[in-house]
This record gives sequence, C-alpha cells and structure tokens, in this order.
Amino acid sequence: MNPLDELATLFEGEGSAEYLGEAVTQAGHMLQAGALAEAAGAPAPLIAAALLHDVGHFQGAVTGRDLMEGHQDNRHSHTGADWLGQWFGPEVTEPVRLHVAAKRYLCTVEPGYFALLSEASVHTLRMQGGPMPAEQARAFEALPGAADAVAVRRWDERAKDPDMPTPGFGHFRPLLASLLVQRA
Ligand code: FE
Repeated sequence: MNPLDELATLFEGEGSAEYLGEAVTQAGHMLQAGALAEAAGAPAPLIAAALLHDVGHFQGAVTGRDLMEGHQDNRHSHTGADWLGQWFGPEVTEPVRLHVAAKRYLCTVEPGYFALLSEASVHTLRMQGGPMPAEQARAFEALPGAADAVAVRRWDERAKDPDMPTPGFGHFRPLLASLLVQRA
C-alpha cells in the first residue's frame, strides 16, 4: 500500500479510538499536534514528527513487536520511530523516538512543567521512569533531535483540546509526500 494511504487508514480507523483517558481521540490528538506545529511555523519534517508522534500507540502493524518487548510505556516512541523509518528520514523519526524522553527531561529541567501535565500523562510518566536524573538530562540534550523532540513534546501536551478546530489527515498529505524517502 502507498505509505500515505496506510497512514490515512490508521488515522481514520484505529486512530478514531479513545486516547488513554484524554478528551480527544488518538487521531484528533495527533492532528492537533501537527496543526500546532504548522501554526508555529515549524519546518516540514518537524510538523510531520508532531503529526505522527504517537503512531506507536496504534495496534496491529505498528505495535505487534512492541508487545513482545515488554511493558515499558516509553516503547511506543521507539516502535513508532522505527516503523516510520521505512518511509521517512531521521529528521522526522528522531523527534518521534525522543518525545517521551523529552517529557521526562522537561520535568527535570523546567520547574513548572510537571504541573502542566494532564492526569493521564502524570500516570504514564511514572511508567516511563519519572523525571530524568540530572546526568541523564545532560546526555539527552546532546542527542541529535533532542531540541526537536522537546518542541514536539510541548505541542503534544497542548494537543488535547476537544474544542480545537482540527484539519483532517488529507491536509497534511502534500507535506508528508514531500518528505518520503526512497528505500531500497
Ligand atoms: Fe501524544
């Protein structure tokens, strides 16, 4: 299947399911994150990363392997990034991979950040390992894509508004098409 059709199917099918105790669906949440990135004037790969950051939450094709890797919640970022790597380059996949780490990082380096988290997000933070130890936070900052992951994480947190007018997946198709990389 064409990658964009495959992604569209996820957004329209499984994505319309409830999102872990939040007021928006998974697809609505991701579309809002993409729209917030776009409104902020982010470059195309970062808009794509925001839009696709939670694909690892979807069942079926994406998370089959995740289940075998254990129950650590932060696997969804790695699973999603690896899966997206069949079509997109690291400027899209690495912010996705690091967006859970970015949440743990922000809880450590920004005193007010924890208070911004939704109830469900506080709960998952515990399973994700809690705030990062200071030394780990310094190592995180040095990773390629860390700053972009922090940006994605900030949009992620805001993208839970049931009243926000949100574009459909089709709005992002041309942008995604421009980022597809050819894999042998
Ligand atoms: Fe998210």
